[in-house]
Amino acid sequence: MLTLEMTEKWLRELGRVYAEQKEYLTRLDSEIGDADHGINMNRGFSAVCAELDKQSPSSISAALKSTAFVLIRTVGGASGPLYGSFFLDFSKALDGKDTAESADVAAAFQAGLEAIKKRGKAHVGDKTMLDALVPAVEKMEVLAGEGKDIPTMLGGAVEAAEAGLASTIEMVAKKGRASYLGERSKGHQDPGATSSYYLLKAALETWK
Ligand code: ADP
Ligand code: MG
Ligand code: MG
Repeated sequence: MLTLEMTEKWLRELGRVYAEQKEYLTRLDSEIGDADHGINMNRGFSAVCAELDKQSPSSISAALKSTAFVLIRTVGGASGPLYGSFFLDFSKALDGKDTAESADVAAAFQAGLEAIKKRGKAHVGDKTMLDALVPAVEKMEVLAGEGKDIPTMLGGAVEAAEAGLASTIEMVAKKGRASYLGERSKGHQDPGATSSYYLLKAALETWK
């Protein structure tokens, strides 16, 4: 069962993880982009944590909605509006709920994913965050459908995201800055797919 307290734990863990992985994500982006993805994610989630310190959210959806607005305001680039849309539609899916079960969480991830697809118009295989998120959310829906609990569901999702992340290495980028490189984008892991993998892994670690 997901609670407000666990939601806050997840967001704070993301603050910690993106601070820890700032250099790594930026290095990945320096290979096929403009060397700022780690800086962007760290700036965004530091601001999310600062907002949590300033004002305790009253519900799961309020915490996630505030996260969306902070990310849209502070991250910039391609990933800011994409992650912002993700958290906004994720929050809407959990509106009015004091707690959430695995099926609710899977539906919320699905809603967030749809928002990214709608805004970014990318597809699986384009070498973006979708290559980690799509297989992960598909796995969540299957496991939630089988009545699995949240940790089991997220365990499967993180495994699927990890495989999706690895598959970006051999892909040619079709969206975002990396697409300017064409074939030369091959051989490099996508930074956004990497940050999406961390997003899921942090949920698994804080929602046990
Ligand atoms: P920018 O490219 O503007 O500097 P970031 O470096 O923060 O932004 O984010 C780059 C990441 O955004 C990419 O690695 C990719 O995963 C993701 N991305 C870019 N364009 C799209 C898109 N249209 N749909 C989904 N993800 C995208
Ligand atoms: Mg960049
Ligand atoms: Mg940039």
